Amino acid sequence: MNILFTASECVPFVKTGGLADVVGSLAPVLAKKGHDVRVMMPMYTAIGQEWQEKMQFQLHFDVQLGWRRQYCGIHMLKKDGVIYYFLDNKYYFGRSYIYGLGGDEYERFGFFCRAMLNALPLLEFQPDILHAHDWQSGMIPALMKIQYAHLPFYAGIRSVFTIHNLQYQGIFGIKEVQDVLGLGDGLWSADKLECFGCANFMKAGLVYSDAISTVSPSYAEEITTAYYGERLDGLIRSRRDSLYGVLNGIDVQEYDPETDPMIYANYSREDLGGKAENKRRLQQELGLEVNEDIPLIAMVGRLTNQKGLDLVDCVLSDFMDENVQLAVLGMGDARYTNLFSWAEQQHRGKIAARFAMDHELAHKLYAGADFFLMPSLFEPCGLSQMIAMRYGTVPIVRETGGLRDTVLSYNEFEGNGNGFTFLNYNAHDMLAVIRRALYYFKKEKDVIHTLRVRGMEGDYSWAHSAQEYLAIFSKLVKQE
Ligand code: ADP
Repeated sequence: MNILFTASECVPFVKTGGLADVVGSLAPVLAKKGHDVRVMMPMYTAIGQEWQEKMQFQLHFDVQLGWRRQYCGIHMLKKDGVIYYFLDNKYYFGRSYIYGLGGDEYERFGFFCRAMLNALPLLEFQPDILHAHDWQSGMIPALMKIQYAHLPFYAGIRSVFTIHNLQYQGIFGIKEVQDVLGLGDGLWSADKLECFGCANFMKAGLVYSDAISTVSPSYAEEITTAYYGERLDGLIRSRRDSLYGVLNGIDVQEYDPETDPMIYANYSREDLGGKAENKRRLQQELGLEVNEDIPLIAMVGRLTNQKGLDLVDCVLSDFMDENVQLAVLGMGDARYTNLFSWAEQQHRGKIAARFAMDHELAHKLYAGADFFLMPSLFEPCGLSQMIAMRYGTVPIVRETGGLRDTVLSYNEFEGNGNGFTFLNYNAHDMLAVIRRALYYFKKEKDVIHTLRVRGMEGDYSWAHSAQEYLAIFSKLVKQE
């Protein structure tokens, strides 16, 4: 099959969250299976010079966006059997940020959606499957069905739209979006593009794609309910027959404690000695008390409400009464950066907080911590808990979305499980389960050892999920 991914980020070029990991690791796996896989993404300034130097200029054309005529250059790079195309327009993507600040996101990603469709015939690449990810690519299935379907080149292309996070929908004024993409007045009803009086890129993807997927089976169920559905649950229920939940994998080569060059010492599940060395050096680097007997809990991720940080806020002082250390790495809301900076001052040597995008430190935390805390309010899939388990770090999570699909609570009667979990979104439930984990750390070390090894034995590769995606793609292609 010819498969085209369109996404607003992709590792190793640019990353703000799990979306980049997914696109960057799934694409090469599908290519290895013999498919012609290509990825299209914006050419941001943030893409490192080392990558920009490897790119080859392919062609350029003008993109009509309402009354605007904008340049689009296409640069190309081949890596691990995948062809990556970077859509270049300095006005839209030559900025110091990737998302958010300019107030013209509809125009930037409207440009991306339009330009990527127009580029295909020029590049002479006709995909069987166009796999669009998240709201930034949401208008692609819609434009294709509404404005391109009569063109023979596009008629056979089937689209799959994947929700990585339903909370971010790309909601804008209808007039603004019409001004850029020229979608006529007749299209703005509730069964088409209109969404509570606004334009909504995510909804466009959900209405017009041939199949919808999201990144875990539990999240696929959850988003059909009002609690998790972010006001799109009715639409998602109506498309239930075309909705799939496919669990993400992680890049098991990048995240491998046996070979990872970023961590202090390598180790394996047969010999966890190196993990203790990682903890010691991490405590040192972060200014925490160096003591192997004090359990170290890590958190790595965006500092937003989604990640359950209000629960942490609520019980932080009770939590710090325990003999425990907390290391936080993340960027996000001021509420939480303030909280953790304050807590670091209050509990010197017990809490360390770093507010940066720091891949190396993230690896060191996954390797050096004893526990990984992720009490998310909702979690489409979550990669961090899988990465943590791969490094023998025991997850403590709330049972939601992908966390529920990957972490099974330790059961002291049957002995099964690979972590610790709680169900209700309640700070004291979380505190109780943290205390339970700490009890085993202090009193029954063999249980923690078993959970570490079990976590490291888990299969987090893309092997199974890639097969599931291919099954969805084949079904669509056969339906032609
Ligand atoms: P989400 O996609 O909701 O942000 P995931 O758990 O799916 O959460 O993926 C987050 C990815 O981003 C993980 O690979 C995590 O290690 C990484 N990450 C998040 N914040 C940081 C940070 N500040 N520094 C380094 N890596 C980070």
